[in-house]
Amino acid sequence: MNPYKTREGGATVTVFVPYDCNNNCPFCVNKQEYADTTGFSVEKICDSIRLMDSITPYCDFVLTGGEPFADLESLQLMLDCIPETHKIYINSTFPVQNEYSADEMLAFTEKNRHKITCINISRHLVKYVVESPDEVIAKIPTATRVNCVLYDKYPADMLDSFAERFGKYNIPIQFRYDYTVTTPENLYEEEHDKILQDLRKHFTYMGLDGCRMRNGFHFDYKGLHMTYHKTLPYSTIVDTDENGKTWDILYDILIKQNGDIHSDWTDVCLNVDAYKKVIFEPYDLHVINGTVDF
Ligand code: SF4
Repeated sequence: MNPYKTREGGATVTVFVPYDCNNNCPFCVNKQEYADTTGFSVEKICDSIRLMDSITPYCDFVLTGGEPFADLESLQLMLDCIPETHKIYINSTFPVQNEYSADEMLAFTEKNRHKITCINISRHLVKYVVESPDEVIAKIPTATRVNCVLYDKYPADMLDSFAERFGKYNIPIQFRYDYTVTTPENLYEEEHDKILQDLRKHFTYMGLDGCRMRNGFHFDYKGLHMTYHKTLPYSTIVDTDENGKTWDILYDILIKQNGDIHSDWTDVCLNVDAYKKVIFEPYDLHVINGTVDF
């Protein structure tokens, strides 16, 4: 193992909530982790959240699943462990479910609006889940964004109507590449990227930002900000500096459903003692061309 480096503020900590969603999206890479719930523990997750907060008190947290909104009591426990020095993002379908009504979920977001930075709502050109009405999503009092995976043979002719659908409520859209097939070679490749070509046809290209790990191509549609996001399917980059010293550079840290802390999506455990001595360097994310802030 090499010593760790990460960006100023610390690697983003992604927390996998210990309960599943009711869906089976074809591109889901998390689903199989919820098949056997042995050892899943909110308490252990909360212990790990506190530990990560003690090491990097200003890192970002992402709560994902599974479905964070499927158990509001547990979600509240996890949110309450994260001090207000952190930004908190929640990935959700904002589900239609028997356990909670839309009004109860909205009341939850209202109660926690001072904690939650943004709720990323999954919506796709092809419907894979039972969707709560757009009018409900529009009522969420925190910032919201739509995450849309352009998977397989997606219907590109629906891009305009999809942008109109959420533009009506001024909810920005992040289109996503299937990250299981992203490689360092195709991360910035434009000519053969069909999604990028489709988006360029339908929307106005504005600019590109990115780093070694991920990037975003930014588009405008009638004032609506849209991004095409690509990221590599792992979260550690091994790099040798000018002095010949080799480092593990961490972009994301994961807290799994049983509270285990991993340094990568590929089941590598974080060496917590080594991370306590992590070296911080400036974030390498930067604007590569055009404008991304509009
Ligand atoms: S809603 Fe999310 S977690 Fe559930 S199957 Fe779809 S992608 Fe996977």
